[in-house]
Amino acid sequence: EAPGRDMRPMSAAIPGIKTIIAVASGKGGVGKSTTAVNLALALRSLGLKTGLLDADIYGPSLPRLLNITDRPEIRDDRVIPIEKYGIKTMSMGFLMEEDNPVIWRGPMIVTALMQMSREVDWGELDVLVLDMPPGTGDAQLTMAQQVPLQGAVIVSTPQDLALIDARKGLKMFKNVDVPIFGIIENMSVFICPHCGKPSNIFGHGGAEADARKLGVPFLGAIPLHMEIRETSDEGTPVVVANPDSPHAAAYRKIALNI
Ligand code: ADP
Repeated sequence: EAPGRDMRPMSAAIPGIKTIIAVASGKGGVGKSTTAVNLALALRSLGLKTGLLDADIYGPSLPRLLNITDRPEIRDDRVIPIEKYGIKTMSMGFLMEEDNPVIWRGPMIVTALMQMSREVDWGELDVLVLDMPPGTGDAQLTMAQQVPLQGAVIVSTPQDLALIDARKGLKMFKNVDVPIFGIIENMSVFICPHCGKPSNIFGHGGAEADARKLGVPFLGAIPLHMEIRETSDEGTPVVVANPDSPHAAAYRKIALNI
């Protein structure tokens, strides 16, 4: 069960890193990683020195999302993050073979997460974006407790089920005293590429209404759009692939809201 605030271990600042923001979701498949990557690139486009740490050690997606096949260098016992599109990145996926499922026990995960945040040579960063593992279990709590998080953003689709899970996520962060910066609604409206008509496939406004009810800020909505999926699959996220698109603008707007 989630520990109370007096059980929270002190997590010392990581030298050189000004702000660490977690991107979390109640469950998998809502677009958390896609959002984390585009958000990191949007923050960088606003002029911030940005890092991105893929803490989803069960299903690391950064190698695919950023088309990275290199292995990170090790210098003086420190892992050098891989730079792509102007951001520094680290993922367990850089160290594993693809299609090699991770079957780890809790303590190994704790060690891995701590090493990825503290033993990587991030240098000077204005902001480190942390792509959290989906869900609200041990790995997420550990991360929230071991890494000095300034705050968390929760990615949710407008669907009720996802919202119920997002609520759990909010509670988890509250339990460990990490402020929630707000909720992002992903896969919001769908604009038909043929006729231009908007359809609310997963409903609409759910995340915004939920945020209001929970008293947390609503950071913005990202539409469900083929270009977002295609650019992700190609390893050039939409913020980089098409910076003039309305999607890139939506990510930048959220970055400004954080
Ligand atoms: P999660 O990290 O929550 O498991 P992903 O970021 O891997 O989810 O996204 C799941 C799938 O949905 C991916 O194929 C991704 O390209 C796609 N996707 C995410 N957000 C959007 C969006 N706004 N529009 C279209 N496709 C999206």
